[in-house]
Amino acid sequence: MEELKQRIKLEGVIASQQVLKLDAILNHQVDPALTMEMGRAFASRFAAEGVTKVVTVESSGIPVAFAVALELGVPMIFARRKKTLLADPDSYVERVPSFTKGIVTDLMLPKRFIKKEDRVLLIDDIIANGDAARGLVKIIHSAEATLVGVGIVVEKCFQSGAQSLRDQGIRLESLVRIQSLGEEGVVFAD
Ligand code: 5GP
Repeated sequence: MEELKQRIKLEGVIASQQVLKLDAILNHQVDPALTMEMGRAFASRFAAEGVTKVVTVESSGIPVAFAVALELGVPMIFARRKKTLLADPDSYVERVPSFTKGIVTDLMLPKRFIKKEDRVLLIDDIIANGDAARGLVKIIHSAEATLVGVGIVVEKCFQSGAQSLRDQGIRLESLVRIQSLGEEGVVFAD
């Protein structure tokens, strides 16, 4: 997605060789028009898959997952990251390391929102080591639903997450692929 690359070049902040801050477009501030564009891009890539639910994880996956779900005309569900007093006790739970927080967190998704007839599209903002996505994949498998694919806004190719999911036979599509972060700025893979 060319516009997204331009926005990343203009507004992304390289925090280290591993971490790109995208607070201005993905992780804090949300640009509704750009987000809807992302939604349309994923919806068209997965249009033939008969998706019945879009699943993401709070919080940064929510706007783009909402946009995809709106385009596909299906519900969007987000896994919560930790127990709250109102958490549904009848939930799927997967413990995953959090890339940004440096701790483990529990992903929780109430069982009543995913059924085995569902055809699920997973959406997330950025993939690094793939722990968040793998946790969601496990939840889909626990629910015996069908995973049709994974849509990621920004794939960091120099970390192993995206490739490890593809190696499992999962269809993973990203809108932008980053080869490296460093003194030369953000280098895109294609
Ligand atoms: P993973 O589980 O794939 O290691 O990390 C994915 C999660 O960590 C994403 O939901 C994303 O929000 C966050 N994350 C991973 N890498 C980055 C990064 O370079 N920048 C930002 N802002 N978030 C990241």
